[in-house]
Amino acid sequence: MEVSVIADGELAEAVAEVLRRFAPDGVAIESTAVVADAEDEGHAIGPLRVCAYLPTEANLEETRQKIEEALWYLGRISPINPPQFKLIQEVNWVEAWKQHYHPIPVGERLVVQPAWIENVPAGRIPIRIEPGMAFGTGTHPTTQLCLELAEARVKPGEPVIDVGCGSGILAIAALKLGAGSALAVDIDPQAIPSARQNAILNQVDDRLLLATGSVGDIRQNAFPIRIAPLVFANILAPILVRLLGDGLAELVTPGGALIFSGILAEQETGVLEAAQAHGLTLSERRQAGDWVALCLTPTDSPF
Ligand code: SAH
Repeated sequence: MEVSVIADGELAEAVAEVLRRFAPDGVAIESTAVVADAEDEGHAIGPLRVCAYLPTEANLEETRQKIEEALWYLGRISPINPPQFKLIQEVNWVEAWKQHYHPIPVGERLVVQPAWIENVPAGRIPIRIEPGMAFGTGTHPTTQLCLELAEARVKPGEPVIDVGCGSGILAIAALKLGAGSALAVDIDPQAIPSARQNAILNQVDDRLLLATGSVGDIRQNAFPIRIAPLVFANILAPILVRLLGDGLAELVTPGGALIFSGILAEQETGVLEAAQAHGLTLSERRQAGDWVALCLTPTDSPF
């Protein structure tokens, strides 16, 4: 049974403390409203929702009364909204989600293949992904646009750099398309074990260097790969612009290409202007819905 209480910021912790006594799996405090924020997913405003799950097998009615009583006492200090109780069906989310995840053919030659499905569509190179905690299951349009642009641009035997690697999907695809080695970095430390696991699944882990970090670290020679003919950055537009300032454009060799995505159509001009200011020229663009991916080459490039 789900129990939830809407409370303002100050009270939410005290309410959570009460619910925690009855909920073996812990308590969640979530925002009921979020305002957009230029750089990330936004920040919470307004009241909070404190929520917990009670096991239905044992003395549910008694537990419910105890919760109501405890909240009533708390409410004498400061008024509290009454708790809402709702019976819900237990779902094995991991299994339920797997049922909706199928092989996704991408571009001409690739297929993003759930790790647990054996049969690969004929003629396609499988990228096996166990999503874990990191972004990049292959279902997001920005990832697919990057893969489409990469297919014809991977240089056999040459290195690639993947900035903001998440699950590692782009670096792994490049390695499977023939790249010699890859450096994949992410500022989120959770991405690294997830990308490692996927690299092992795809048998490319011996050619993949994974590290926590970003453009600044690569520029400061922290890793053996410092420059490559193919560079991915599937991050949000404001971050791309900032990373250009940190030297993102200098990671590509003359004649090579940078593939940018995570750009909303209305942000495209801003990213292009920043890219041009850093010596890059647009060579191809692709769009899926509101999302745009850009392939950029160094302006002095002979190609
Ligand atoms: N490359 C994957 C994941 C893209 S999601 C794919 O194409 O599907 C974007 C990733 O960039 C996230 O994992 C996030 O942690 C990372 N990121 C965000 N800001 C970053 C920065 N400044 N430098 C490096 N990585 C960053």
